Amino acid sequence: MHEASIAQGIIDIAQEHLRRWGLREVKSISVRVGAATGGVVEALRFAFDAMKLDTPLEGAELVVERVPLQGQCLECGRPFECWEQFVLACPHCRSPRFRLRGGRELDVLQMEAE
Ligand SMILES: [Zn+2]
Repeated sequence: MHEASIAQGIIDIAQEHLRRWGLREVKSISVRVGAATGGVVEALRFAFDAMKLDTPLEGAELVVERVPLQGQCLECGRPFECWEQFVLACPHCRSPRFRLRGGRELDVLQMEAE
């Protein structure tokens, strides 16, 4: 996923919440972005700031929390975390046999609106 589409996703989710709760303006929004989405925080912030203009999020502050990709090796059995977008091998034993979980999410954790 590209930063612009992640930013658009955040804006879409926020607007849906505004509609649902009858609110007009977002003050701040906290999101969790998984490392596997490929989102780079600075680029995401830049995209968000450009795309929020003329939306109810125009005055909103974006708070980003990144979460790593998590995996477990099927060879040595050890869990690992990775901040890269892709994992090619277990960082402990270099085995290419592992299972991944997490790191793909885009969650809105908290939103302050009125
Ligand atoms: Zn391993």
